[in-house]
Amino acid sequence: MPELPLTGACLCGGVRFEVSEPLVSAGYCHCTRCQRRSGTAASASARIAPGSLRVLAGEELIRSFDPPDGFSKLFCSDCGGHLWSQSPNDPEIKSIRLGAFDGDPGIRPSYRAFVAYAAPWEPIPDDGLPRYAERRPPDA
Ligand SMILES: [Zn+2]
Ligand SMILES: [Zn+2]
Repeated sequence: MPELPLTGACLCGGVRFEVSEPLVSAGYCHCTRCQRRSGTAASASARIAPGSLRVLAGEELIRSFDPPDGFSKLFCSDCGGHLWSQSPNDPEIKSIRLGAFDGDPGIRPSYRAFVAYAAPWEPIPDDGLPRYAERRPPDA
């Protein structure tokens, strides 16, 4: 396990954050929204323990894209770097983008979700991870 707190930032470094507890779970999302916001075929994020995220700098730079259905996507308004998603019903439910962490976040993605929408230009890696056509079922 890496030392806590974990630390991370957006691309320009204007937003900095730390996470005080080990990450709970991680997975790849192949949904169309993740493709659009990240410019990649899939996005890796990790669910955090509620209350474990603290913004150290740049709170005023953080903007949110709030789709009518689903989690808000938070990013830095200066550089566009993606930071985390959060539930509109309970903002303590957050998933941080693994690429936003400074070092080893101490967790590895363990599933692939929304593979029904996978990008046609990149085959899903044959890595043995469970694949879910839609959202990962809560009991998985
Ligand atoms: Zn930034
Ligand atoms: Zn997604």
